[in-house]
Amino acid sequence: MKSYLIKPNLTESYPVVTHGKGIYLYDDKGKQYIDGSSGAVTASIGHAIPEIIDAMHSQAKHVSFVYRSQFTSDPAEKLASKLNQLVCDKEDYWSFFVNSGSEATETALKVALQYWQEQGENKKQKILSRWVSYHGITIGALSMSGHVSRRERFVALLEDYPTVSAPYCYQCSLQLIHPTCQLACAKELETAILREGAENIAAFIAEPIVGAAGGVIIPPQGYYEQIKEICDRNQILFISDEVMTGIGRTGKMLGLDHWSVKADIIALGKGMSAGYAPIAATLVSEKVMTPILKGSNSIMSGHTYSANPQSAAAALAVLTYIEDHSLLDLVKTNGEYLLDELKNASKSIDIIGEVRGKGLLIGVEFVSNKDTRMPFSKDISITNYVVQKAKEKGLLIYPSSAGKEGAYGDAVIISPPFIIEKHEIDQLVKLFIEAVLEVESELS
Ligand code: PMP
Repeated sequence: MKSYLIKPNLTESYPVVTHGKGIYLYDDKGKQYIDGSSGAVTASIGHAIPEIIDAMHSQAKHVSFVYRSQFTSDPAEKLASKLNQLVCDKEDYWSFFVNSGSEATETALKVALQYWQEQGENKKQKILSRWVSYHGITIGALSMSGHVSRRERFVALLEDYPTVSAPYCYQCSLQLIHPTCQLACAKELETAILREGAENIAAFIAEPIVGAAGGVIIPPQGYYEQIKEICDRNQILFISDEVMTGIGRTGKMLGLDHWSVKADIIALGKGMSAGYAPIAATLVSEKVMTPILKGSNSIMSGHTYSANPQSAAAALAVLTYIEDHSLLDLVKTNGEYLLDELKNASKSIDIIGEVRGKGLLIGVEFVSNKDTRMPFSKDISITNYVVQKAKEKGLLIYPSSAGKEGAYGDAVIISPPFIIEKHEIDQLVKLFIEAVLEVESELS
């Protein structure tokens, strides 16, 4: 039967999912898949958890939709308080709810501009960001993204934002080696600010750990402390895009918590509702809220489904579940075990260049030559090749690549639900290594 659903690849046939349970998904042929990437690093507490279903059911019986200019709701208010409790340190954070990570970063951009406008700084309009990075698919979010293949069709519409190198030590674009580099990639931010003029820059945005564009790029210690110092000294806001790293994925509540730095604005998505409902958030610090409260007293953004009570009830139940079951501890122990097993199993595989990770966010980078770290030719599409092979074996993993030949490495992300058990990790590693070895042998 002809399908009218626009899927990522229009000619490929996709398995039809019937149900999920814990770390597993099942299709209509009865095949079982390990959800080794929590979808797109989203289903972080696993599928069909009864507590979340009950909370959603109970909310649906009361009310599913209200419009945000007419009503507030209990779940939305409680969710904002819970998020503040989870992320605040010395300063409170207010929540602006949206529906996707792209909307969360796009809202962050707008809030940053508004913050300066409220203080009469109307020229501060630019956002600085990095190659490589991914902040979302809408035009504003894509403008901030250092992701060649997702940008190239729309370049004429995009602002020319990304300017600074990512702290990508394995494929350093500055051709330097850490620690002798003395964090030259962080210092590049200062150079970019001097070039553009601090009076024209509203904010700098970064994923604490680069995800979809680079396969888990973890900066060295000290990197974000330098970045934040440069931002503060130049009166530039720091936006942390925690859409992938937030809500426990790396073993801490926020990815940035691995450094001793707090962001002015935080974007959350994905794991915030663990896939149970579409909801994301832009968290705005008290510092940024203050001139807005004194000035126009409103944030110039919003969507019909913003602060939707049904989605808020799902996200609130997910956050409560993570706390009640101490899942962050599980992320740490499971993450260390999975990383060690993957590193050991990869040692003898020529096409695996590096295995790296924090918590349950792990990247495996493929290279055609381990000594030179040369990426594969784009024609081979190595990450999709491995992802496809793993899927045939019943393992789902997530491809990541900024897609510019020779410039960036190609990696897959392995990021199973937090609740994965040790024997399931062993099975995941076994299937992954089998898939990679088959690809390696077919390539040679
Ligand atoms: N920021 C980051 C760091 C992401 O990883 C993503 C999604 N991969 C986005 C933003 C965009 O989120 P969404 O796909 O929900 O719009």
